[in-house]
Amino acid sequence: MLIDTYGRVATDLRVSLTDRCNLRCTYCMPEEGLQWLAKPDLLSDDEIVRLVRIAVTDLGIEEVRFTGGEPLLRPGLTGIVERVAALTPRPRLSLTTNGIGLARTADALRAAGLDRVNVSLDTLRPDVFQTLTRRKRHADVLRGLAAARAAGLTPVKVNTVLMPGLNDDEAPDLLAWAVENDYELRFIEQMPLDAQHGWQRDGMVTAGDILASLRTRFTLTPEDSAERGSAPAERWIVDGGPHRVGVIASVTRPFCRACDRTRLTADGQIRTCLFATEETDLRAALRSDAPDAEIARRWKLAMWGKKAGSGLDDPAFLQPERPMSAIGG
Ligand code: SAM
Ligand code: SF4
Repeated sequence: MLIDTYGRVATDLRVSLTDRCNLRCTYCMPEEGLQWLAKPDLLSDDEIVRLVRIAVTDLGIEEVRFTGGEPLLRPGLTGIVERVAALTPRPRLSLTTNGIGLARTADALRAAGLDRVNVSLDTLRPDVFQTLTRRKRHADVLRGLAAARAAGLTPVKVNTVLMPGLNDDEAPDLLAWAVENDYELRFIEQMPLDAQHGWQRDGMVTAGDILASLRTRFTLTPEDSAERGSAPAERWIVDGGPHRVGVIASVTRPFCRACDRTRLTADGQIRTCLFATEETDLRAALRSDAPDAEIARRWKLAMWGKKAGSGLDDPAFLQPERPMSAIGG
């Protein structure tokens, strides 16, 4: 098991497949992009599958989520999904994507064994999408979402970040749209993980703001807290059900005490938290022919060092050097 000194057990592995992206969301990347990882530094498909196999068969991982950067840009994605889906015990498999290209790939990903997707979409307005992501791809994302639903990658969840002055007036419209289209909407509070270090606590849209805005149009009833478990999203039943809406309030209502995550970056580093400042290099172990048992030992040791919380409320908080796109959100 992957257990830490606070008794938390990691059963959920986030695997970043690339740090590259075809969008430039303002809360994530600068307009000019970033210095991408060099190809030899990236884990190969075989290396990724080996690490996931060790995590699943030796370390108790039950859920694997592929992310990035934009994971649909990884050429070997379908093959990786297929090989991970063939592991015993079979982990639950999901993907977080910006949805561009999903219209073409949803069926193949489903056939390879993917169970679900989370698609990020912050606005229903193409012009606002262009301002937020610096790309004209709104229609592609909508097509990707519809294809994911048609392919049975359900429930299709939609991740939304609200930014002041840009899309913070859209929460009720987004929820009405999600209910109508049978997507499960989850708002994510903006976190200090942008490469430009432009995040300001005073300038962010909080869970409280989001809920107040939604309540102008919907009746929200809190879901039974037992149903939440270690899920980061607090959920509300919309207008009596069956639809739900979630809010991931990493900044104003952190859920670190129930965290069950461990993360693998595209260059083979283990991170125990999005906000961790330390990493454990598994790529070096892989490339020096370490046996599975040694890799598992290093992973357990990393987990044992997991901090109690994100440290966001600590006056000495330091934003991690890697931005969200390079960690794997
Ligand atoms: N490119 C894919 C996507 O956008 O879904 C996967 C990677 S992205 C880093 C994963 C999620 O992190 C997205 O839902 C995105 O909106 C979110 N995200 C990125 N930067 C963020 C930030 N500074 N605060 C909160 N969420 C952020
Ligand atoms: Fe790309 Fe996702 Fe970051 Fe947007 S949030 S720039 S889609 S990695």
